[in-house]
Amino acid sequence: MAMASLLESGWTYLITHFSEFQLATLGTFIIHESVFFLSGLPSLCFERADLFNKYKIQKKCNTPDAQGKCIMRLILYHFCVNLPVMIVSYPAFRYMGLRSSLPLPSWSVILSQILFYFILEDFVFYWGHRVLHTKWLYKHVHSIHHEYATPFGLTSEYAHPAEILFLGFATIIGPALTGPHLFTLWLWVILRVLETVEAHSGYHFPWSPAKFLPLYGGAEFHDYHHRVLYTKSGNYSSTFIYMDWLFGTDKGYRKLKALEE
Ligand SMILES: [Zn+2]
Ligand SMILES: [Zn+2]
Repeated sequence: MAMASLLESGWTYLITHFSEFQLATLGTFIIHESVFFLSGLPSLCFERADLFNKYKIQKKCNTPDAQGKCIMRLILYHFCVNLPVMIVSYPAFRYMGLRSSLPLPSWSVILSQILFYFILEDFVFYWGHRVLHTKWLYKHVHSIHHEYATPFGLTSEYAHPAEILFLGFATIIGPALTGPHLFTLWLWVILRVLETVEAHSGYHFPWSPAKFLPLYGGAEFHDYHHRVLYTKSGNYSSTFIYMDWLFGTDKGYRKLKALEE
């Protein structure tokens, strides 16, 4: 109860001091940047400081130059691609029912919407990602994301601008269809960023979500996708493992896992 009223008073502060347009565009942008860079920082520091080597998936490390290049490129694309997209798509979200007024939705509504976004995102991402692995698109677009064969958290959003738009569609299609509360949208952005940063972290810890969340891919699953030649890699899903299992694109990965055991 105390938690709920704290949330409501915090939300009241936001909607009385800022317009919905400001919150939905700049607010979303600031939340995304903070969560992305803060959650991406640990794996970068571990790699630089040789920490937790026991849990590092690959022996190879990225040079400080390679890490720096990734960060500079990300800042550029976030300001020149992500932010304009957020501004331009606001009327569409608004039209589909996005709202920011009180009361906040119930947790059952929030969590079921977010679960739906994860499932839909994973489905759309899987097919979009498979298309990106065809010869021409890989060569001209998706190879940028694969420049880092040893991924670290921040490489999760390192991609060609066309890919940011193309796969970003998977992220926003769920909220665009359901017209959620802005609070739900923010929570979705936060969870999706944490998920993709973890999948690219390069570390498989005993406390990694893949250890206790059923059907969840995580770092080990996606690291394989970056490590192996693009025509042979498989593991195209973003969050879950069942799409690759259903369509037989996890065979190489399964074989390797079986060998390791
Ligand atoms: Zn790929
Ligand atoms: Zn990736």
